[in-house]
Amino acid sequence: MPDVVFSVDQSKSMRDQAVPGHNRWHPDIPVAAQVKPGDEFRVECREWTDGQLGNNDSSNDVRDVDLSVAHMLSGPIGVEGAEPGDLLVVDILDLGPVPQQVGPAPGQGWGYTGIFAKTNAGGFLTDYFPDAYKAIWDFHGQDATSRHIPGVRYTGITHPGLFGTAPSAELLARWNRREQALIDRDPDRVPPLALPPLEDGVLAGTLSGTELQRVGREGARTVPARENGGNHDIKNFTRGSRVFYPVHVPGAKLSGGDLHFSQGDGEITFCGAIEMGGFIDFHVDLIKGGMEKYGVTTNPMFIPGRVEPRYAEFLTFIGISVDHDTDTNEYLDATLAYKRACLNAIEYLKKFGYTGEQAYLLLGSAPIEGRISGVVDIPNACCSLYLPTAIFDFDIRPNAGGPESADRGRCAVSS
Ligand code: ZN
Repeated sequence: MPDVVFSVDQSKSMRDQAVPGHNRWHPDIPVAAQVKPGDEFRVECREWTDGQLGNNDSSNDVRDVDLSVAHMLSGPIGVEGAEPGDLLVVDILDLGPVPQQVGPAPGQGWGYTGIFAKTNAGGFLTDYFPDAYKAIWDFHGQDATSRHIPGVRYTGITHPGLFGTAPSAELLARWNRREQALIDRDPDRVPPLALPPLEDGVLAGTLSGTELQRVGREGARTVPARENGGNHDIKNFTRGSRVFYPVHVPGAKLSGGDLHFSQGDGEITFCGAIEMGGFIDFHVDLIKGGMEKYGVTTNPMFIPGRVEPRYAEFLTFIGISVDHDTDTNEYLDATLAYKRACLNAIEYLKKFGYTGEQAYLLLGSAPIEGRISGVVDIPNACCSLYLPTAIFDFDIRPNAGGPESADRGRCAVSS
């Protein structure tokens, strides 16, 4: 068994762990554990909001969640001999929910998917679903079911939403500059275009006082993916994957968390995955000077693992870059095209008795495939959403008899 180099007691906040983690990207957050190239080791993780969401039937906790504390990350893990310009080779050997525990923290036998309120982060379809909703999922080995979305059972593709290396001071300054320039285009937008550094809620390992405040003032929020990796939310980062992360600081300082039991391509509800705490096992190695050798100057690359659920039959929904609400044509806008594919899938699932919110939660969390199908046929980009038919315990394929509607309950709502 790999040694646990970063341990978490799930009954405590990340702030109260023997060695606390962090929730901002900054080069000066001290190393929490040290490993060597060739080592295999385990990292334990809290769920990304540090346990603010409960296993209950109300989504008030989603509505009121304090996102200044997210994402709660484990690490940084220092890698001996790593220098800027290297590639850090990270093998994901295994991962999963909290082993052998039942309890109130996400990952202790259960997880959740949330639709975030438009006034508190929003999501891909926030203009259509502006309020907070939630679905609780129970884990059965590799399968998930939800009392909030009956009629569905699927095998998860378990993966970390977020891992990455620390930015250099120079790279961090570039992030802050360009993201502020984006915010300045529409500073009052709800939800905001990007999130600037924030002192409230900051955690930076063992740092305290003025050093901690400085990390709060300068440190990048963890929401987007950037040149260090970060919050990719790529469902295929599962067991057996090998990720090549650019190294920007001595020791690389690998950190991460935000483990997902399952997720669909796009993670469309913002918190669209099945969120959980748990464990992840790594093997690390280095390619010295790998960034220059392989031309990896911006983002990481990865080799997907060989383990994933075997869904072979799909009902596929298509979207184009036309806003059908206003009959407005946009030019090769793949984001809009994928939105329309999602909306088409939701409208279809409603015919079977699901609410729009249940369908939205399902598309975020189930192992759907999202594809950019065409981006050259002016003026319409074309995206497609592949929904596995075998995840339903009834036939969702169209036939002459029409859809089989039933009472399918409802998801958790806010009061
Ligand atoms: Zn997540």
